[in-house]
Amino acid sequence: MNNAGQAYEVVIGLEVHAQLLTKSKMFCACGADFGLPANTQTCPVCLGMPGTLPVINRTAVEMAVRAGLALNCAIRSKNRFARKNYFYPDLPKGYQISQYEAPICENGVVEVAVGDSRKPIRVRRAHLEEDAGKNVHDGDNRAVSLVDLNRAGTPLLEIVTEPDMRSADEVVAYLKMLRDILMYLDVCDGNMEQGSLRCEPNLSLRPVGQQAFGTKVELKNINSFKFVKDAIEYEIKRQTKVLNGGGKIQQETRLWNVDKGVTATMRSKEEAHDYRYFPDPDLVPLDLAQDWIDALRMALPELPEARQKRFVTDYGLPDYDAGVLTTSKALADYFEACVTLHNQPKTVSNWVMGELLRELNNAGCSAASSPVSPERLVSLLQLVDKGTISLKVARDIFPELYASGKSPEQIVQAKGLTQVSDEGALEKVIGEVMAKNPAQVAQYRSGKDTVLGFFVGQVMKASGGKANPGKVNELLKKKLAG
Ligand code: ADP
Ligand code: MG
Ligand code: ZN
Repeated sequence: MNNAGQAYEVVIGLEVHAQLLTKSKMFCACGADFGLPANTQTCPVCLGMPGTLPVINRTAVEMAVRAGLALNCAIRSKNRFARKNYFYPDLPKGYQISQYEAPICENGVVEVAVGDSRKPIRVRRAHLEEDAGKNVHDGDNRAVSLVDLNRAGTPLLEIVTEPDMRSADEVVAYLKMLRDILMYLDVCDGNMEQGSLRCEPNLSLRPVGQQAFGTKVELKNINSFKFVKDAIEYEIKRQTKVLNGGGKIQQETRLWNVDKGVTATMRSKEEAHDYRYFPDPDLVPLDLAQDWIDALRMALPELPEARQKRFVTDYGLPDYDAGVLTTSKALADYFEACVTLHNQPKTVSNWVMGELLRELNNAGCSAASSPVSPERLVSLLQLVDKGTISLKVARDIFPELYASGKSPEQIVQAKGLTQVSDEGALEKVIGEVMAKNPAQVAQYRSGKDTVLGFFVGQVMKASGGKANPGKVNELLKKKLAG
């Protein structure tokens, strides 16, 4: 059968693993930091030694509840841990402690902005689990696998949506929103490259108009927003081709190959594990007090959406500015720190969204570690306000301000960029410019006012951008009038 020409709708549900920002691991006192020498963050519990007993990390539970509340989930006060059994070298116990039939958070929803409209994405569940270790293959001897168990036992929150998304753009919008929320809550650092936030889209196609979902494929190994979009778009094309050729989609897990820009089979459904879940007998079921949950709800910080609205109402910013400034907590904090020092929200917004973000993005740097502090940016803006330097000079020196660690005053001094407002000096330049352009002087004097712009430009140029434009205008009019 050939179905060429049939139109399909894509259906996508997401599984996201977020590493929680606890100091210690999920069930032992080992540190949970990334990037330390192999196997230095281990103990008998996370090494899976017989006879050891896990202890639940209270902070991880608290973070899961706070994330669940922010995602508008119901919190299941009686929840428990289960063993998910499988064999792999990076899993010393032979099972992963997870949550199965009783997850801590259920039935949430987040609204994401797609184009001009907002769309609800339902969160089916969010559950706590421990991470596995890592097999390492970059040693001298490539014939052996090394195992690093530093990550074994670090706490994860797995957040699973309903199959509510219908395009790669919706997936990216959801993922950005989710990442923002987790970062605002300080429960995850959101670093996709380091694996603190891992995303696995499940994707299927169905003929437009059909109710029933098609067979899904799970995509793994995706560690940036760009790869999410690329992998989904590739997979839509691949599945369309298979279906249009009369073929069937195999239920399988596929890996995104960054270098080749394709997805490839990792394992088929037949190879899927039977995890033989059962309640972990070493851990008591959790029974969370309603008071505690209520207190956590009351203490939730302002979330991105609310902050965006407040930026519009409190600072009178356009929706667009408010959206950009609240994309990360660090950037929004930076903006507010500046406005506290310099109460001109729109001017500050222009600088933060323009010059600052450009430099930060080039350097792959977060606003939290910006080499230009809010104080420094504000002192630059104040130099413009006071007329010490022109707006153009301020823009021109920003890259140096960012790169050098010098203060704006130091740079302006060293380069002699102080704006020239001195009438005598400006009159001299104006005189020279007029002498060089007698034809234009005559034009102006015969009533062609628009020539004024030409003269302003020439004077600014002759002064190396340092002339005070207001003063130049004023003096030019006087002089040209003759
Ligand atoms: P599994 O048991 O294979 O993990 P689940 O039913 O638990 O499958 O769903 C895992 C994820 O896949 C969820 O995010 C869900 O929304 C999504 N999903 C389920 N069925 C489909 C489908 N037919 N097409 C796209 N996504 C799906
Ligand atoms: Mg799955
Ligand atoms: Zn340990």
